[in-house]
Amino acid sequence: MMRSGFSRAAAFLLLLTASGVYRPFFAQQKSDSRLALTGARIYPAPGLKPIDDGVVVMAGDKIASVGAASNVKIPAGIKTIDCTGKTLVAGLWNAHVHFIEPKWNNAADLPDEQLTRQMQEMLSQYGFTSVVDTGSPLDNTLALRRKIAAGKVAGPRILTAGMILFPQDGLPYYLTESTPSDVIKKFAEGEVRTPEDAVRLVDKQIAEGADIVKLYIVTWLRRDGKIQPQAMPLSVAKAAAEEAHRKGKLVFAHPSTIEGVKLALASHVDVLAHTAEDGENWNDALATQLQAAHVTMIPTLTLFSHDSQFNLIMNEVKSYQSVGGQIMFGTDIGYLTDYGSLTKEYHYLALAGLSFPQILAALTTVPSNRFGFADRTGRVKAGMDADLTLLESDPGQDVSAFSHVALTMREGRIIYRSKTFHVGQ
Ligand SMILES: [Zn+2]
Repeated sequence: MMRSGFSRAAAFLLLLTASGVYRPFFAQQKSDSRLALTGARIYPAPGLKPIDDGVVVMAGDKIASVGAASNVKIPAGIKTIDCTGKTLVAGLWNAHVHFIEPKWNNAADLPDEQLTRQMQEMLSQYGFTSVVDTGSPLDNTLALRRKIAAGKVAGPRILTAGMILFPQDGLPYYLTESTPSDVIKKFAEGEVRTPEDAVRLVDKQIAEGADIVKLYIVTWLRRDGKIQPQAMPLSVAKAAAEEAHRKGKLVFAHPSTIEGVKLALASHVDVLAHTAEDGENWNDALATQLQAAHVTMIPTLTLFSHDSQFNLIMNEVKSYQSVGGQIMFGTDIGYLTDYGSLTKEYHYLALAGLSFPQILAALTTVPSNRFGFADRTGRVKAGMDADLTLLESDPGQDVSAFSHVALTMREGRIIYRSKTFHVGQ
């Protein structure tokens, strides 16, 4: 714990000596000290020209100024980190994650340093400063979030759905057959048989702190040895979405199939948490309808990359981007536990036809606008939260550069530093 009067800069240097190990020093961190990142190429926002030899000056948890070295005055005496040769973008969002692995259980009682390490392994080392948890035991994820907010654990901003709403007897087989039984028992609380059930559960979870509502609008069940889809009744999905919207919350749906996509459209769902698995039934007319309804798609292409129909699933994303549909980045990390393999998502999005500015938007401005954080994060701009991701190379040249992170900062605090990034004094 910091002594009062101990400067933020000094605390920062202590952190840097800790070779990648994060110290929970910042609970009482002062916000009046300053730090500057110098020398990087900066992409201030998607579609804007990069700034070469850029400087970002931070004051506490905010960005104070941004510009070329020739235009930005670095206040005398503040700490600087030389980022020459690297590329700086706004802190990245991952809008499809889960905190359901057993290692997150009883978060309230786990050591803070362990949780920080787990956050780094799953999220911070990949540059994520904001994440959307699309289904996990709500009380546990709220405990995690409280520890981060209190400065005890270093990690991203977390928005959460809490329990996923699913139709009667409709918890998908891939969860019931693979997830630890205590988590499944919790998940069972999400069963909604009637519109009244749906409204009750939406109200309860929002009252407890949930930020979004997630529906298994079509799920997969194993019946008589065969995998079959099961849909949520339209009246139930509609009731859940209406109630969520009445409370100002976005609704995500796991569609599974094109039937699920259509049901999502009919229920006024805001976000498709995945593409549909039966891509042969997709067409551009459906894409146009979804675009007109302002539905945001999270492709999670890596999740489907071993599917024999992968080219058809990829085609849904191609089709959606070609009609101007909104696409948001997410990987289902945390449900998928081979974290490193999920960095292939950048490559797949590029294959699906997304340009570098579109991929950067899917990682920054699209989610920050969608979730109501446009005035705080998503751009490298004075007045915004100092949420920043420093990349080893330029994603404008090769989008795989998004996978190699040197430094992740959230609200002016370092939450991850690569072991090979030596910042000196
Ligand atoms: Zn998921």
